[in-house]
Amino acid sequence: MSNHQDKVIVITGASSGIGEATAKLLAKDGAKLVLGARRENLLQNLVKEVEGLGGEAVYAVVDVTKVEQVEDLAKLAIDTFGKIDVWLNNAGIMPQSLLKQKKIEDWDAMIDINIKGTLYGIGAALPFMEKQKSGHIINISSIAGHIAHAGSSVYSATKWAVRAISESLREEMAQDETNVRVTIVSPGAINTELLESITDQEVKSNTEEFYKNFGISADRVALTIKQAIDLPEDAAWNEVIIRPTKQLM
Ligand code: NDP
Repeated sequence: MSNHQDKVIVITGASSGIGEATAKLLAKDGAKLVLGARRENLLQNLVKEVEGLGGEAVYAVVDVTKVEQVEDLAKLAIDTFGKIDVWLNNAGIMPQSLLKQKKIEDWDAMIDINIKGTLYGIGAALPFMEKQKSGHIINISSIAGHIAHAGSSVYSATKWAVRAISESLREEMAQDETNVRVTIVSPGAINTELLESITDQEVKSNTEEFYKNFGISADRVALTIKQAIDLPEDAAWNEVIIRPTKQLM
């Protein structure tokens, strides 16, 4: 029996990619899942798949840039299952481009979804976790939160921010003896729908080529997240970098 059996796990960005793969993997051990994203039909299908795999699930249509919708996702978890054991801040987009192209809408969207969405998730989960004196916040950063390249500026900045916020959170949780664990998961190239968010066609086709050569399944990240959850609760993986074995940078 796995440690995450009976855990209530909230996942943002659950409708595809890493979020979806994680929901399905945890479902196999009977986890209780609370799934948020914007595409309702995908969430509805995922709830059915989760139930077929042996888990329980509810969903809410959530735009993580809307603080009240994120708060409602936390309330849905409490109203349905009575607690929040794990909150996975996973929703994110990666419309990379050169700064000189001045893609201001893309900059704003990355800051709003990748940074503010993560903060709103932390804000929504913490009051319940502090009261429970237990919990686990898992934030998805990226290898791009460790290394910046031409074209990765704003995306890297948002993922760097996720790491900074996570480390401060970790220290605050330890200081207050909340028993809340904090984990940063920083993946390399993972084959998901993420590249669909790239609006610059040249960057998109170059990135697609890179992913075709190096990308690995989202199941690998799901397994990493499951292992982080399964660690005995007096210990936490504070950061995991998971890259394809073949990926150079
Ligand atoms: P996907 O595009 O497959 O998944 C992204 C998810 O985020 C979708 O479920 C999408 O759902 C959701 N999302 C996007 N915007 C919002 C929003 N405003 N509100 C709520 N949900 C939103 O890509 P991945 O699975 O790859 O991405 C998951 C995370 O992993 C992201 O944070 C990404 O930056 C990170 N990552 C991915 C890597 C990769 O190579 N794939 C590498 C490193 C990090 P919907 O559109 O239905 O709202």
